[in-house]
Amino acid sequence: MFRTQHIQIKTDAQIDKMRAAGLVVAETLEKLRAAVVPGVSTADLDAIAEESIRAAGAVPSFKGYHGFPASICASVNDQVVHGIPAAGQVLRDGDLISIDCGAILDGWHGDSAITVGVGPSVDPRHAEMARVCDDAMWAGFAAARIGGRLSDISHAVEQTVRSAGDYGIVTGYGGHGIGTEMHQDPHVLNYGKPGRGPKLIKGMALAVEPMITLGSPETDELEDGWTVVTRDRSLAAHTEHTFVLTDDGPWVLTALDGGRARLGDAVTSRQAS
Ligand code: MG
Ligand code: MG
Repeated sequence: MFRTQHIQIKTDAQIDKMRAAGLVVAETLEKLRAAVVPGVSTADLDAIAEESIRAAGAVPSFKGYHGFPASICASVNDQVVHGIPAAGQVLRDGDLISIDCGAILDGWHGDSAITVGVGPSVDPRHAEMARVCDDAMWAGFAAARIGGRLSDISHAVEQTVRSAGDYGIVTGYGGHGIGTEMHQDPHVLNYGKPGRGPKLIKGMALAVEPMITLGSPETDELEDGWTVVTRDRSLAAHTEHTFVLTDDGPWVLTALDGGRARLGDAVTSRQAS
């Protein structure tokens, strides 16, 4: 299932270009996070994203991707991923929204997603699910080391979710290699045993993106051909960052601080061992 021969390995100069693209995505998502308030529509958020990306001299990766009509995916409540922004979809206090955003700068891609509660009335269980999803993603990065295997990441994601509670882990979608295209080999599962798959080497760039639910992990695609919803209509969370493996550990290209705040200890302990 792993096609190692197709994994694109980046040079230091190419990684710097991916960092520039990643920062466009990071800064755009910060604007969107601040714009998520009751009364805003997902089309409003899409407009903010497109303006932010284009003002940086970049191009929205999603717009036109297999015909996708917008610059972000906006997935609200029981929508898991790939929701299409719409003027008629107005956020309400207590909603949970996942925003996925990608940008191309100088031919290189960044891809990242956040899950954000809307307004002051978010159910603590929903906020907790979003935090668990984020923690699982970061555990995946912390498990990525040169000489390790791809599924070490998958295993860390799953273990973090499983140990946090009775969440569903969506298995029909996952992370991916990224570089001169948004989606490259290899596919990155959000579950599995460690020690499997391609060896992790310097210059490998991956997007890790857990999707978890408060109920069943089963999903359906709506008639629009894009929106993925939970079959049992339970709420879902989705978080994503793009990282590259360097000699100093994982560099999270779509995080403003490169991942230092979350991975500093992991990197230090790895270097000490
Ligand atoms: Mg994405
Ligand atoms: Mg992705």
